[in-house]
Amino acid sequence: MTVGVLREGGEENRVALLPEHIPFLVKKNTTVLIESDAGASSCASNVEYVDAGAAIQTRDYILKNSDIVLKINPPEEDQIPKGKILISILNPLTNTQLVKKLASSDVTSFSLDMTPRTTRAQAVDILSSMATIAGYKAVLVAASKLPNFFPMFMSASGTIRPSKVLILGAGVAGLQSLATSRKLGAVVEVFDVRRAVKEEVQSLGGKFIEVEGAKDDSAAGGYAVEQTEEYQKKQAELIHQHAIKSNVVICTAQIPGKKAPLLITKATVDAMMPGSVIIDMAAGSGGNCELTRKDETIIYNRVRIIGNSNYPSKMPVDASKMLGKNYLNFMDLLIDQEGNLNLDFDDEIIAGTCITKDGEICNERVKEIISFEES
Ligand code: NAD
Repeated sequence: MTVGVLREGGEENRVALLPEHIPFLVKKNTTVLIESDAGASSCASNVEYVDAGAAIQTRDYILKNSDIVLKINPPEEDQIPKGKILISILNPLTNTQLVKKLASSDVTSFSLDMTPRTTRAQAVDILSSMATIAGYKAVLVAASKLPNFFPMFMSASGTIRPSKVLILGAGVAGLQSLATSRKLGAVVEVFDVRRAVKEEVQSLGGKFIEVEGAKDDSAAGGYAVEQTEEYQKKQAELIHQHAIKSNVVICTAQIPGKKAPLLITKATVDAMMPGSVIIDMAAGSGGNCELTRKDETIIYNRVRIIGNSNYPSKMPVDASKMLGKNYLNFMDLLIDQEGNLNLDFDDEIIAGTCITKDGEICNERVKEIISFEES
């Protein structure tokens, strides 16, 4: 078996495997090929990969000679491993053109953002590992941009009140933002449509903002469900009231495969305190704030709105460490101890993450979206 790792492009600093991940594959009788300088932005040199047991190669060589190709971001045209296996984060519910291209290029593709949310699948759940990093980093960015302290200070020069942080969405990223904000001494309020998270928020020292009348979401596998119009009106008013008293708003609310819910309107930003910071981590799926621009920072009404959708890339060493472990755990399901491929489509993780195979699109949700787009 040969596994190849491609170099990411553009602003991406992460790499799919670090040198520390290589021995696991070598022990499985697997050759590992790394595109030259793939790890450079994650502080991993070509020499360190070679010392760990990998070989440095060109992209063309890797695409031709690997059985499995690893890529973090969806591959560009010249990175598609025709007729091979691709493991990546394809965001296939919105990247439908790419999915069609992968099917027509006979690629067996696995998208780890489609991992089922089961206990067994946690070891390959890249959404959780990357959300942990994003939630932490977002708070550090907010604290560095805020013209106020996070913690309370009492000194001879007077008393500084602690900053107020409002977190929208208490999933993995939101809970990590809560924990980090509390460590820095802020007062934190959290809002989520899922009632189940109330206790988790309280146990981390946050105050849970509750809106009456939420729909039952217990059958949605840990995800949010869309709410009624009446609920949304009540929710909008309550969020407005809390946001205008906050120094920092961290937006993490998302609904998989759909546009992110709009929670901070222009009218709310108009009423916010000067110097406040909004970090919109939902920028990649439309943003929770009406004024967010993806991957841009704007200042409106003296409020800084940061639309960064890829914080994990800003902490590339630990992000690659966690991501690499997720990729290894996934490949452990595909490669046996002798280095042979063993694709067991009765395994819910393999079946759930598989997007294309045998020249066809095999994920039902992606198929539905594509047939809707084409109708
Ligand atoms: P996510 O990124 O899809 O969404 C982030 C949060 O936004 C969620 O908590 C969601 O309820 C919230 N949200 C959606 N619409 C909202 C709205 N209108 N207003 C306010 N909040 C809104 O979620 P995630 O962080 O990937 O995961 C959500 C939950 O799934 C986790 O908290 C966890 O309990 C569960 N989970 C389970 C596993 C597993 O078992 N393997 C793995 C990861 C997560």
